[in-house]
Amino acid sequence: MTLPTPVSGVTDDRPGYSDTPKLPNSEYRVHDEKRPHPPAVDPDGLMAKEPPADATILFDGGDLDGWVGDNGAAEWNVEGEYVEVEPGAGDIRTSADIGDCQLHVEWAAETGDDATGQGRSNSGVFLLDRYEVQVLDNYENPTYADGYAGAMYGQAPPLANACREPGAWQSFDIVWNGPRFDGDTVDRPAHITVFHNGVLVQNATELIGPTTNLEVAEYEPHPTEAPLRLQDHGDRVRFRNIWYRSLES
Ligand code: MG
Repeated sequence: MTLPTPVSGVTDDRPGYSDTPKLPNSEYRVHDEKRPHPPAVDPDGLMAKEPPADATILFDGGDLDGWVGDNGAAEWNVEGEYVEVEPGAGDIRTSADIGDCQLHVEWAAETGDDATGQGRSNSGVFLLDRYEVQVLDNYENPTYADGYAGAMYGQAPPLANACREPGAWQSFDIVWNGPRFDGDTVDRPAHITVFHNGVLVQNATELIGPTTNLEVAEYEPHPTEAPLRLQDHGDRVRFRNIWYRSLES
């Protein structure tokens, strides 16, 4: 989401907000400065190098075939095995629509970036073009709890801060079960499980709606399949080894 300018209650130690709406499923506000920060955990895990045999490959280096930008071609920079956000080029999306799935994404934060909070290597992985798993460099970089890497942005902080240092490759392994609608009503809310560098950070988290900024999310009926989107938030975050496996509905 677009980075807001904090309007109140912001300190270096407790970034966040004190005047945003209350979340309906929590005692906290959206981006609440008082919400406890996730504890740091050294992930210390190995990363899968090869996708499973039945995976659909979305990006494995070389080119951005199968991806589009806001105005046609996806104009991020491919360098060998990885693709890097081109700031200002806009978000990129898969041409294919993707529904419930197991998704693997690897990313790396910029090195030498002295920005703080939401300004440091911000990007995002949007399921169904709508639901953001936050990408951020939180290695010794605090922000509001529901904006950490692995957060469901604006809704659910990660259970741990499993960030590696800037420049190191990191993984998200995601299990996505999107919402179902019966007419205008929610038949089944979305649930998401996320492992960050092998550490569980979202445990079948129930979502209250698509990602919003400084507002409380609400569902509106939408398809069960839509593109996967990667966010241009102005930082040169890198991605590689992106694949998914469709789940039976
Ligand atoms: Mg983001």
